[in-house]
Amino acid sequence: MKKEEVIEKHQKYLFSCVANYYDEPLVVDHAKGNFVYDIDGKEYLDFFGGILTVSVGHCNEKVTKAIDEQTHKLQHASTLYPNVPHVALAEKLAQVTPGRLQKSFFTNSGTEANETAVLIAQLFTKCQDVVALRHSYSGRSYLALSLTGNASWRLAPTTIPGIHHIASAYCYRCPFGLTYPSCDLKCAKDLEEAIQTQTSGQVAALIAEPIQGVGGYITPPKEYFKEIVSILKKYGGLFICDEVQTGWGRTGGKMFGIEQWGVEPDIMTLAKGMANGVPIGATIATPEVADSLKGLNISTFGGNPVTATAALATIQVIEEENLVDNARVMGDRLREGLEALQNKYPVIGDVRGMGLMQAMELVGEHKKPDTESLMRLFEATRQHGLLIGKGGLMGNVVRIAPPLNVSKDQIDKALNVLDQSLAQLGQ
Ligand code: PMP
Repeated sequence: MKKEEVIEKHQKYLFSCVANYYDEPLVVDHAKGNFVYDIDGKEYLDFFGGILTVSVGHCNEKVTKAIDEQTHKLQHASTLYPNVPHVALAEKLAQVTPGRLQKSFFTNSGTEANETAVLIAQLFTKCQDVVALRHSYSGRSYLALSLTGNASWRLAPTTIPGIHHIASAYCYRCPFGLTYPSCDLKCAKDLEEAIQTQTSGQVAALIAEPIQGVGGYITPPKEYFKEIVSILKKYGGLFICDEVQTGWGRTGGKMFGIEQWGVEPDIMTLAKGMANGVPIGATIATPEVADSLKGLNISTFGGNPVTATAALATIQVIEEENLVDNARVMGDRLREGLEALQNKYPVIGDVRGMGLMQAMELVGEHKKPDTESLMRLFEATRQHGLLIGKGGLMGNVVRIAPPLNVSKDQIDKALNVLDQSLAQLGQ
């Protein structure tokens, strides 16, 4: 098929909500390492990794080989029969996740991972109320849409009761008009009043992303999670940590984002980068919380031998190639470069994030969200052969997340393209 034909069929045969980036959609053909190639053969340096999912490079040889071998050995058995990849992956998760997290339930997406997490929290606490954060994203099921704190992604009217949204730790636009640290973490402390005024005094859980991904990499201050989780515990709630974007070394120096804040979740959800692009979701919990889900519950494809093998191979590459450390070192280099760009271009109002999860919020005067500049920056970077992502409530945040094995030269090349493209905005 030619490019035009693909675009035409996409519009004709897919739901119109399946939106594409760019004025003229970029039809991808193949990819290798940290590069993607379009159908006309043009090369792009990938700094978004299929939405933080390609963690060890496209079509990674080791991951592909493991998938290939497993496909020829046992492709599907269902969870009715124990098999090696399924239990080996569960054991691996228990080893690498923090604290007492031990038992896993596998699904096919982040959405399902969050569904499972909320279900077990409600069953364990015998309570329905769940607190989520504004600017959050939890997925596309009814429950996940209701948990999501971003109107653009909440397409249906909210019908699930017992979900309460509190302010997020969005320091650049503090919802209370305060400044860190003199704010005394008002956003975290507000959880107490929310529980006292919006619930019957008990909650099943707080669900939060360590860094709000879709929200535009909103990164809370270092004391935030200790504060908010200690309030949550006072009211009997469990902490569900959504590591769908921040997991697997993304934030640099630590395997999971929440470890940067020194807090142990009761439940953690994982997806995206866990299997380098093979569809997978996982919910891991402490044994007593996990075992509160009694009776029959099944995910036909959950823990499938091929996806479990892909995840194990991906985690092995992350460990063997020290990619958690690489994310820290390369992330520091990227951050330094972005801050230098911020000094040069007033359109960059804020640079935030951690490790290889870095964002630039584009603004006009008085911090007015500048979505138009973002759209133009997108077109310019595409022309120069660089893929980036977007996010934020107003769609004015550039999201950058290259694969974890990105090199120094690739970081420098991306910064160079961003510099050239930002310069073009002023022309
Ligand atoms: N949680 C977070 C933090 C996410 O970013 C996403 C996806 N963007 C999800 C959950 C849902 O994952 P999926 O699209 O795999 O259902």
